[in-house]
Amino acid sequence: MEIRRLRLSGFKSFVEPAELRIEPGLTGVVGPNGCGKSNLLEAIRWVMGETSAKSMRSGGMEDVIFAGTEDRPPRQFAEVVLSGAGDDGDELEVVRRIERGAGSAYRVNGNDVRAKDVALAFADAATGAHSPALVSQGKIAHMIAAKPAERRQMLEEAAGIAGLHVRRKDAESKLRSTENNLGRLEDLLAGLD
Ligand code: ATP
Repeated sequence: MEIRRLRLSGFKSFVEPAELRIEPGLTGVVGPNGCGKSNLLEAIRWVMGETSAKSMRSGGMEDVIFAGTEDRPPRQFAEVVLSGAGDDGDELEVVRRIERGAGSAYRVNGNDVRAKDVALAFADAATGAHSPALVSQGKIAHMIAAKPAERRQMLEEAAGIAGLHVRRKDAESKLRSTENNLGRLEDLLAGLD
């Protein structure tokens, strides 16, 4: 996917609706400490289906919602919209929204979709939440120090085969449950003999 625009509302420190145009090529985010650089990168990961609170630097998933300051009340929801062009060149708009007490929901081009669909679509396009295209502070040092298995994972993400691992896990768990069912069926049939 080619990301062209990012819109945030109520996400972490971005309490007011904010919009960023992302031009082709390399994009760098610079600014003073604490201005929200990492929050921007996290917004991109989040809308791509990130479910790990740890990699969002938060305790729970609702912590991505603006928590309020001395002079501003907290928000009830956070929303991130990522727009651009899909691999076929068609316009693509992905929205993730979380509401306090109601969990998060995703929409792709206006249609409700599951978290898994979004994560898989991005993983296939090699632009997922863990994509090496998103380089956060300290990431280069981390890559240099990474263990071989971790480095392999990064290469797999870059090659766009990360989605296959998710499908393989799904297929393996379906296979296990089918094997269990077969075992039960054989027991039942043996009981009929
Ligand atoms: P540094 O250069 O120091 O790493 P940064 O520019 O990457 O900083 P971020 O870490 O993105 O900055 O932003 C940190 C700011 O975001 C802090 O001021 C923090 O209070 C604010 N923040 C994070 N989560 C929330 C939230 N849920 N509600 C309100 N503010 C938040």
